[in-house]
Amino acid sequence: MFDKLSDRLGGVFDRLRGRGALNEADVREAMREVRVALLEADVALPVVREFVDKATEKAVGQSVLKSVTPGQQVVKIVNDALVEMLGAEQSDLNLAVAPPAIIMMVGLQGSGKTTTTAKIAKMLKAKQGKKVLMASLDVNRPAAQEQLATLGTQTEVATLPIVQGQQPVDIAKRAMQAAKLQGFDVLLLDTAGRLHVDQQLMDEMQAVAKVSAPQEILLVVDSLTGQDAVNVAKNFGERVDLTGIVLTRMDGDARGGAALSMRAITGKPIKFAGVGEKLDALEAFNPERVAGRILGMGDVVGLVERAAEIVDKDEADKLAAKMAKGQFDMDDLRTQFRQMTKMGGLGALAGMMPGMKKAKAAMDASGMNDKLLIHMDAIIGSMTPKERAKPELLNAKRKIRIAKGSGMTVQDVNKLIKMHQEMATAMKRIRKMGGLKGLAAMFGG
Ligand code: GDP
Repeated sequence: MFDKLSDRLGGVFDRLRGRGALNEADVREAMREVRVALLEADVALPVVREFVDKATEKAVGQSVLKSVTPGQQVVKIVNDALVEMLGAEQSDLNLAVAPPAIIMMVGLQGSGKTTTTAKIAKMLKAKQGKKVLMASLDVNRPAAQEQLATLGTQTEVATLPIVQGQQPVDIAKRAMQAAKLQGFDVLLLDTAGRLHVDQQLMDEMQAVAKVSAPQEILLVVDSLTGQDAVNVAKNFGERVDLTGIVLTRMDGDARGGAALSMRAITGKPIKFAGVGEKLDALEAFNPERVAGRILGMGDVVGLVERAAEIVDKDEADKLAAKMAKGQFDMDDLRTQFRQMTKMGGLGALAGMMPGMKKAKAAMDASGMNDKLLIHMDAIIGSMTPKERAKPELLNAKRKIRIAKGSGMTVQDVNKLIKMHQEMATAMKRIRKMGGLKGLAAMFGG
């Protein structure tokens, strides 16, 4: 996410940070580079202009140039301006009404609307314990209603039974009735998409909005379409009262133009970001965290949140206890590999942790990648329980047996042993530095 923009800005700021004193010309030069970076990221011109003007004005201020760390201060100013551009505060769903709260989903075909409907349903159910009903009003696209039913089965969220031939407004009425009678907390209405914004689509959407009076009308747009996404949002916003935007495919969006211009141009908050095809690949859009990611400062909060959701608490406690005793064996290493894979692999982790971007590049160069995690796991799987607990037992003969058993080479086995030693040493160091607080210190936190 935002990789290109992040790299560009990272370069500008590395140069600034490296210098002691800054004068006005230095700051103006840096801001010119920021401007180019934003334009290359496909951010709308008026938004770039306002951004750069505001940030420059603050950055050439006397107190910044006189401060002992002017470079850092300029980075902070750009960070704050980014947060503001992204909408300042996280904007959550407003579901505080007598149930059922109704969320209407709108958007063009292929934007990821149906997938996002299921993602939101899943999230509301899992994180807020809501009883959710989904209904597809898409009678245009063949099999659209079946697609939602399938997603409902996958996420274990109820869907409205399909009645062939029924029209969107009538389906909406039936869904509201069912949600009320059956005590659902939230009703998600997935409306039909079209290839382009057209009159028929808009009429249908307005009619559904009128009968259902939704608390939320969320527009789903594809972030990869850049400024087109922003224009679509403007168009839809003129016809219905959008309460928020969901930007999909942010996982593949290296530029970020749609995300960065959306709020300023449409005035609508981005509420969620779709970050993958899987049904849990949806994140609340938090401007501060996104700005932190763009500036390579890492999204530590996001990382911790994800870890807390995915990582098995018992396993984590066990590991912490072992670490406290200075023990870290091959089984622990395997647990670590598996948790890394569960958390989305090295790439996902690298994007979230401060300083990890560079580490990831180094890992790529040395052949350390997600496949390797799986290979290493297989090697550990070929060890006997004794060998796992006491890696020092691993002599040449045993290594050959393990390599054969896992379909890897002795070199790979040696690589793993080295990695284990390094991790064990790092764990000891962390313990000496006072546990996780020490770890945070290592990352400059
Ligand atoms: P709809 O026509 O708007 O309802 O679009 P769908 O929900 O059917 O999605 C179209 C395709 O986009 C599907 O293959 C989805 O898996 C994919 N998709 C949706 N959201 C995301 C996302 O956030 N990231 C990625 N990588 N793919 C997505």
